[in-house]
Amino acid sequence: MSRFFSRGRETMRKLLWASRFMHWLRDLMALPEDDPALAATQLAALSQYVPAFYLVLIFNLTSLAITHMRVAPPLLGRAIPLLLLITATIRLALWLHRRRHLTPREDAVRKLRAARRSGVVLGSCAGGWALLLLPYGDVYQRLQVEITVALTLLTCFICLISLRSAAILLGLIVGVPYALVFLSAPQTPVRLSGAGTVLVLFVTLQMLLRNAADFVALSHSERELQRRQRETQLLSDENSRLAYLDSLTGLPNRRRFFAELEQALSDAAQGGRCLAVALMDLDRFKGINDMHGHAAGDRLLSQVGARLRRLVGEGIFIARLGGDEFGVILRDCQGGAAVRQFAADVRHVLEAPCIVGDRLATISSSLGVAIYPDAGGTAEELFERADYALYHGKQTEKGGMVLFSREHETRIRAEARLEQAFRHSDMESELWVAFQPIVDVAQRKVVAFEALARWQSPELGLVSPGLFVPLAERSQLVCPMTAVLLQKALAAAREWPEHVSLNFNLSPYNFTSVETMSRLRTLVTGSGLAPSRIEFEVTESALLDDFEHAQSCLRELRALGARIALDDFGTGFSSLSHVSRLQLDKIKIDRSFVIDVHSSATSANIVKTIISLCDNLRLDCVVEGVETLEQLHTIAALGGHFIQGFLISRPVPAEAVAGLIAGFEAAAPHAA
Ligand code: C2E
Ligand code: CA
Ligand code: CA
Repeated sequence: MSRFFSRGRETMRKLLWASRFMHWLRDLMALPEDDPALAATQLAALSQYVPAFYLVLIFNLTSLAITHMRVAPPLLGRAIPLLLLITATIRLALWLHRRRHLTPREDAVRKLRAARRSGVVLGSCAGGWALLLLPYGDVYQRLQVEITVALTLLTCFICLISLRSAAILLGLIVGVPYALVFLSAPQTPVRLSGAGTVLVLFVTLQMLLRNAADFVALSHSERELQRRQRETQLLSDENSRLAYLDSLTGLPNRRRFFAELEQALSDAAQGGRCLAVALMDLDRFKGINDMHGHAAGDRLLSQVGARLRRLVGEGIFIARLGGDEFGVILRDCQGGAAVRQFAADVRHVLEAPCIVGDRLATISSSLGVAIYPDAGGTAEELFERADYALYHGKQTEKGGMVLFSREHETRIRAEARLEQAFRHSDMESELWVAFQPIVDVAQRKVVAFEALARWQSPELGLVSPGLFVPLAERSQLVCPMTAVLLQKALAAAREWPEHVSLNFNLSPYNFTSVETMSRLRTLVTGSGLAPSRIEFEVTESALLDDFEHAQSCLRELRALGARIALDDFGTGFSSLSHVSRLQLDKIKIDRSFVIDVHSSATSANIVKTIISLCDNLRLDCVVEGVETLEQLHTIAALGGHFIQGFLISRPVPAEAVAGLIAGFEAAAPHAA
């Protein structure tokens, strides 16, 4: 019973070993059926070495055929080698041809199988034929067969490194009979050299098997590396896409705009074509942001972005440059006509109302356009000129399109000259202040003087503040300029009677620097003039960029005891929210309503409404720009108390102020 069990265990162990061996053999023989990429790599490697294998085979077949042609029977000595040679040559030609053509991945396994089949069949036939030659010829010829078969097998092992199953099969089919023949030879030297050769072949096969495994691992890691590289490439593509995209509108961003502009310019230069650069911004966007909040502003921008995207097409590139500013490149534009058409298209897409805050509102935009090559040759020049055209377009009429022209060019040159002169000016000696009286109509009394900046340039003569104040703002010179002017105005005002105040204009840019605000406060406190006699004039536009900050600057000035007037009221947003949030002391009605106040019911109504608004809010109200008696009477009839204008006096130098006050006092009703 126990013998029966032990025999059974023995059989089981043998079966297990046999099954393990079969598994091992199957693994060795397997082709990468489920890994077409590996199969393609193997096939590519095979294509590099197999021709060498066939070359060696052809050479060895030829050499054996030559030496055995006469000693072996015709079938063995001529017919079979000829057939083998023809087949090997055809195979060689096929492989050389295949090397030049890429095999699709899906086909690689099939081709590997075919290569194995033909290689093994041909190799086995050649090996078999060589062994059949052994009985013929002398000892040298036997030696030649021994060496030739061994070398051919070695070559085949090396060349078939990427197709190990073929190498193993050849090793089994040719190597085993070879070993049997030589190891069983009666002559000891033949047996020994046969044993040595078999050992070399065995070791080579071992190495081949290990290398084949390395080859698979290498191929896997190479493909893994390629996959990672592809992934990295995709990530980097996505990164650069995002780096060039404006996330709010989905349009390309500023960086992309300039890259595109450079490219478009070089294309236009090469092709001798023209190109338009347009800058576009939304009218009154700052006010919308301020009144409805930044979230509403962002929402509006994304609506506008979506509509502008519809205009993008062949030769039309649109990007968001920042804020409410958009940049457009029109390639191959046929002069102004294409640009005008584009401006009309923009108007058309913006026609439908947009959601602004909690209501619908119609949005308009202004465009400034510069055309290459007329307006400039480089991206910077074109951009600056389009910006210039936009800036001037905004000043004259909003919602329009302005093409950069020769007139703009002349103006730019004049401005550059002006800027140069202003930069090199000695502010202390060249800037001075003129004073224009503000009078109480009923009392016929001067209540204040507005300080108005003047620049006496040694090079350009007397320059209007309408020119040099914006220039100073643009070139960051406004803060030193304001300090010089305030100091001079305060010094002059110290000489005036107690009841006469000083009105001083502040620029929006004064609020941007903490140092300037603190310098202005120091000047006021150190002037010796009661701060209650100083009134700072600000325009609404000064407040829009950063309302909270401007508000806190004004609060600081009020804390000193100074008063605040809202200048040019009626021209900007004329927002009641500004009036109520700012703690104002005065509103100055802009000159534009006064020009026709006596003849236009609309102007008269506006003036009347603002005057009564001021009465209700207990604010003082000054009507600016009164030039005629007619205007004066109308304003008085509308309830205006304080006026300023050429009718009373033009701005005069500081020395003339005392005489002016005296003249008024002499003419006042109570003086009579
Ligand atoms: P503004 O603050 O509205 O000053 C009133 C302007 O209207 C002055 O022009 C004044 O001469 C002019 N004006 C006064 N009455 C009449 C009139 O009856 N008819 C006409 N046609 N004009 C009249 P000016 O001195 O040329 O100043 C222009 C602008 O330059 C000022 O407008 C102000 O915005 C700016 N500015 C002047 N001085 C300063 C300053 O010291 N600092 C700042 N930031 N801006 C200043
Ligand atoms: Ca003013
Ligand atoms: Ca004004």
